[in-house]
Amino acid sequence: MAFLRPEQYSASNGGNRLPVIRTIALLLAFVLAWFVAPTQAAPQAVLDAGRQSLPLTPHLTYRIDADGRADAAAMFAQAERGTFMPLPGDSSAFGFTEGAYWFHGQLFNQNRTEQRWLLVLHYPLLDNVDVYVRYPDGRVEHMAAGDTLPFSARSIRYRHPNFWINLPQRTEVELMVRVSSRSSLQVPLALYTSTAFAELERDSQFGIGLFYGILLALLCYNLVLWLSLKDASHFWYMCHVSGFGLVMFCLNGLAFEYLWPNSPWWANQAIPLSMAISQIAMHQFCRVFLELRDRQPYADRVSLAFIAFFIAMGLASFFMDYRAAVRPMTLAVFPGALLILYQAINSIRKGYAPAKVFLLAWAFLLLGTALYASVSFGLVEKNFVTEYGIQIGSAMEMILLSFALAYRYARLRGENERLVQEHNEQLERHVARRTSELSTALEQLAEANQRLRESNRRDSLTGLFNRRHFRDMFEHQLSRANEHRQPLGVLLIDLDHFKRINDTYGHLAGDECLRWLGRCLHDSLVEHGALLARFGGEEFVVVIPDVQGDRLMHIAELLRQRICGDPVRFAGNNILMSASIGVFLLQPGSGISVDEALHRADDALYAAKDAGRNRVHAANGVTQD
Ligand code: GH3
Ligand code: MG
Ligand code: MG
Repeated sequence: MAFLRPEQYSASNGGNRLPVIRTIALLLAFVLAWFVAPTQAAPQAVLDAGRQSLPLTPHLTYRIDADGRADAAAMFAQAERGTFMPLPGDSSAFGFTEGAYWFHGQLFNQNRTEQRWLLVLHYPLLDNVDVYVRYPDGRVEHMAAGDTLPFSARSIRYRHPNFWINLPQRTEVELMVRVSSRSSLQVPLALYTSTAFAELERDSQFGIGLFYGILLALLCYNLVLWLSLKDASHFWYMCHVSGFGLVMFCLNGLAFEYLWPNSPWWANQAIPLSMAISQIAMHQFCRVFLELRDRQPYADRVSLAFIAFFIAMGLASFFMDYRAAVRPMTLAVFPGALLILYQAINSIRKGYAPAKVFLLAWAFLLLGTALYASVSFGLVEKNFVTEYGIQIGSAMEMILLSFALAYRYARLRGENERLVQEHNEQLERHVARRTSELSTALEQLAEANQRLRESNRRDSLTGLFNRRHFRDMFEHQLSRANEHRQPLGVLLIDLDHFKRINDTYGHLAGDECLRWLGRCLHDSLVEHGALLARFGGEEFVVVIPDVQGDRLMHIAELLRQRICGDPVRFAGNNILMSASIGVFLLQPGSGISVDEALHRADDALYAAKDAGRNRVHAANGVTQD
């Protein structure tokens, strides 16, 4: 005996196997039993010395009470007349039935020590169970249980209906059990001594604890993951585990015992409802996990149809007859399972790696179910693994699905990181490109600015500084010269009769003469660190730093000679020029301003012009130091 008997599970999947064939077989058996064969009484259930438990199925006969109106007295009478039949195929499972089923057996206790036995009906979903015990003195004891009564109506607080029965020693006692239910009808009755029952429960409780412990741990673990990762697949996984757990909880009678012991209505309603939730969540989980909407749109639509069906049935179960709701849902579980199998295999075929673990998980559940079914059909031997295949398979399935979720998460994270890195690299490249474009533009702008500044400073014809910039530079040089106590030499150079050159050779020739003079000034004076500028028209100005008077005069004289010494060649003409030069030496600390210095040089220039041109003239005091 253990925590979840196979018979119970068939309420959701097995009890409904081949219902038509079963009904026909039962009818045939009934007719044959009635008309042809004499009724064979089932062997008496003998509780011999030392016996601790006894399954009653082989010792029972049964009779159908089609309208469910017969009473116990009538049935005891029928049993005496021998109209009860042996159980078909020694099975206590009858599928979905109408009316009431009556079971009759004879108990004989040879056990001296044990007089009080516990009768357990190992199937928790029956609506009504009435037990009648008739003693030789004609006294009949009646007890009732089933999930239409509150849980407290039971003899022992136990998930399966149970009844204490007094079996006096060496006394033949008659047992009559009436059962009716809208769920699938299974009547696996057994008798236990209190010791045997305690031992039976030890194993069952351990198994139950283990199974629901695994489910609860997975539920909590995925709750934390869902809250932290906000990934819907964890949510649907939780719904699936809760839904499936609730189905099992109902099917093995624990839900009635622990969740709603005083509500027989809920005890019945919870089964179709939890079935619907579990199936909706399973299909939805599968959709999210396998990313069906994107990867398998057609299969996704089939899943949606299943979900819609289970939602409709789940809601309808509140208003519909229990059986009308549970039957179609049970039937839909199988194609639903095959659909998920197909979707998982298809996902793997399309190269979606997490589907492999998913398929393995699903295969465990299907294998467990198949093993259990094979036991029911007698194809494989009954042992722990085959008998509890569904429990083991479902626990494995849920553990593996949890692994599958972790695997999928790791894969998604890897993919995400790769995308982020790719994006970052792309962004970096983009930024680098834009930065270099920007810096090139800035450089070009700076260059243009520089050129603009330069052109603002320079005279376009000769390339020398213009008058405005010259003035700034001269101010600067003057303050430096004062600071270092150094003299500054100022030369003002004016071409003689330049108007005539223009008039004689043309304006372009005049321009060329001015350009030539610019070059000449540059070449002659660069070695002295001179500041050169076109002062205006054909007039030029030169400032020579740190120079003494006689040397300044010498430089001016050499310059004059060079101007009049070399003719300018232009359009086949050799143009001879001369220049008058005014010289002024600015002594440090003299307090003479830029304007005044230029003025003094200008005076000297005029003096040179007045003196006949082509000469150097010094302002007062130039050569006296
Ligand atoms: P002086 O010896 O007294 O200095 O006589 P000058 O002819 O040189 O002086 P004036 O001031 O009478 O004439 C200056 C001439 O310089 C007048 C003008 O046409 C010419 N000139 C001024 N700027 C330019 C220029 O950029 N290009 C040319 N080709 N001629 C210029
Ligand atoms: Mg002039
Ligand atoms: Mg002139």
